[in-house]
Amino acid sequence: MTPREVDVHKLPAMLTALRLPSFQAHWQAFAARADDEGWSAAGFLAALAECELAERETRRIQRHLTDSRLPAGKTLATFDFEALTTVPRRRIEALAAGDWIDAGHNLVAIGNSGAGKTHILAAVGHALIEAGYRVLYARTTELVQRLQAARRDLALEAALAKLDKFHLVILDDITYAQKDQAESSVLFELIARRYETKSLAVAANQPFSAWKRVFPDEAMAVAAIDRLVHHATILEMNVDSYRRRAAEGRAGKAAAAATTTTDNPTDNHEGAQQTA
Ligand code: ADP
Ligand code: MG
Repeated sequence: MTPREVDVHKLPAMLTALRLPSFQAHWQAFAARADDEGWSAAGFLAALAECELAERETRRIQRHLTDSRLPAGKTLATFDFEALTTVPRRRIEALAAGDWIDAGHNLVAIGNSGAGKTHILAAVGHALIEAGYRVLYARTTELVQRLQAARRDLALEAALAKLDKFHLVILDDITYAQKDQAESSVLFELIARRYETKSLAVAANQPFSAWKRVFPDEAMAVAAIDRLVHHATILEMNVDSYRRRAAEGRAGKAAAAATTTTDNPTDNHEGAQQTA
């Protein structure tokens, strides 16, 4: 068959059937440039193929980001490393690279409310998605409820299997709510299933000694913590609440500005308004 016998009008349908949306979107512009600039047929085809691959990667990352339910905006770019005095920056950056995910290791962030646990776990999650991993973010209580509903429908195994496609599951606020026997047992199932094969990242505002809230059955608590921490990076994040510091910072600035204004009324416009 010579090219002349191919019906160009069929091209959109053929490209759709082949799942080549970027070919579809760009072939006319590329063809015009190829004609203008005298590209070879192979060069034209290679340029389109390269474009399809690049856009496919972007679409994939976008899809994985949507699937992840990660809170938007909580990224490494928006994280103030100076504020987290207990963990060196390079340790977080190493986590963002993902070797621990390949090894099926875990991450546990422990610290008071407002310390930045959710932000840092989400930021690592975002970076891992960019690096090609699949991540799911969940508030522990919500995920536990979903798993319990699955268990009632005799579909717990399938629900856990569904989570296997994620290289990393982030369980936020694991100590937040007191869990009963049934709740803690599905959570234990999840931890046991992923042990040494798929990673978990957990945020807790209680030290392990207080995990009786999570697992009222003491033997189960020991077994779960054992599996979680066996191969884990622990981030100790007992630092001042970032929220409170930010609020105090604003209040402090306003107060300082107000004082400055009394000394030198022309110094700070914002302060002048404050005292006015
Ligand atoms: P936690 O989960 O430990 O309670 P969050 O991660 O929710 O704390 O942090 C509380 C708020 O402060 C969030 O809006 C978060 O984005 C912000 N925050 C916390 N730590 C930092 C930080 N080091 N740099 C930038 N923002 C931070
Ligand atoms: Mg949090």
